[in-house]
Amino acid sequence: MSEQSHPEIRDAVRKLCAGFPGEYWRALDRERTYPTAFVKTLTEAGFLSVLIPEAYGGSGLGLSAATAVLEEIHRSGCNGGACHAQMYTMGTVLKHGSQAQKEAYLPKIASGEIRLQAFGVTEPTAGTDTTRISTFARREGDKYIVNGQKIWISRAEHSDLMVLLCRTTAREDAARPADGMSVLLVDMRKAVGNGLTIRPIRTMLNHATTELFFDNLEVPVENLVGEEGKGFRYILDGMNAERILIAAECIGDGRFFIDRSSAYAKERSVFGRAIGENQGVQFPIARNYVQLSAAALAVDHAAALFDAGQPCGTEANMAKMLASEASWAAADTCIQTHGGFGFAEEYDIERKFRETRLYQVAPISTNLILSHVGTHVLGMPKSF
Ligand SMILES: Cc1cc2nc3c(=O)[nH]c(=O)nc-3n(C[C@H](O)[C@H](O)[C@H](O)COP(=O)(O)OP(=O)(O)OC[C@H]3O[C@@H](n4cnc5c(N)ncnc54)[C@H](O)[C@@H]3O)c2cc1C
Repeated sequence: MSEQSHPEIRDAVRKLCAGFPGEYWRALDRERTYPTAFVKTLTEAGFLSVLIPEAYGGSGLGLSAATAVLEEIHRSGCNGGACHAQMYTMGTVLKHGSQAQKEAYLPKIASGEIRLQAFGVTEPTAGTDTTRISTFARREGDKYIVNGQKIWISRAEHSDLMVLLCRTTAREDAARPADGMSVLLVDMRKAVGNGLTIRPIRTMLNHATTELFFDNLEVPVENLVGEEGKGFRYILDGMNAERILIAAECIGDGRFFIDRSSAYAKERSVFGRAIGENQGVQFPIARNYVQLSAAALAVDHAAALFDAGQPCGTEANMAKMLASEASWAAADTCIQTHGGFGFAEEYDIERKFRETRLYQVAPISTNLILSHVGTHVLGMPKSF
């Protein structure tokens, strides 16, 4: 996206991020702890509620503004992964929830009183094939009884509510594989210890991701979002916003790496001259800039379509793929440009290198995007 869009937002985010320098993130990374102070500051500044309509207490600015927020967070060396889902997970309630649910939750999400930043879809045996999830919610009177398991559910320990996708009809009994799944809002404050167990997973980056075990967890029927059995469609609806916002984080990461690479290439002198005078050092950085600029336009385009209410599934996926590949290429160059110092913790490059690698796998891996383009856009045969 254009670095010039939303200048006031970008400027304010940069100033906020200056209070959370590399030392802050390094210490958290070392201990694998949650950036509570950073998230609190962002929340109080109103940056996590830009997608919530004004009628519910947000600023209703739209996705393009949200991409500017996340891009600047990442360009500053910070990481929005701890809280980006607070921006968009509420979209499922906003778009498909009842009026009562919207009134009960959205104003509190906007103010930060309630955190809705856990999104439970992935399961260990189903993987990317979401129609094979088996976590099951059995209706009993005015409640659902949930049993099953989820994996890679990020921020579950730091969320008051979770959007949970589960089966309410077994796959074999549903008319189509994508039918028979439902979305429940799980109140984590009541669930933990009463049928829900959370087990943190230690990963190569500090991402607060977890495994969830459901053992007869009771969820009131009033927490069903939309209609029973239609949950898969609701989740798919929310994915475009997620893809575009994460693509914006990749653009921010890419700009971080290119800023660092070009500055170091100008300043580091070896063999009596700046290393950046050597085209073997300069051209990879220039190439990263070209690739990232093109990816940024794709993110901009997808966000504009989203904000105009147009279909944008393909564009959102393509933007995420291009941006995640461009940020990864820039990360690799950045390490190479810094030589040995690229590996030193205090430069923050190795941390960002680990962080940006995630985005070619999550929230959707590159192969699945290529499969979507190959089959849905180009009409080639499906492999699965
Ligand atoms: C740190 C982290 C945080 C996450 N947070 C969340 C979260 O908050 N909520 C949530 O629900 N999930 C979350 N995820 C899960 C994430 O969305 C998945 O890991 C991702 O979608 C890939 O799915 P998988 O791991 O099951 O891979 P698999 O589906 O097992 O696939 C493994 C590999 O095989 C490839 N592959 C599979 N099938 C095909 C095919 N037909 N053709 C070509 N290639 C194929 C995939 O592209 C991938 O590279 C998170 C994951 C991580 C690592």
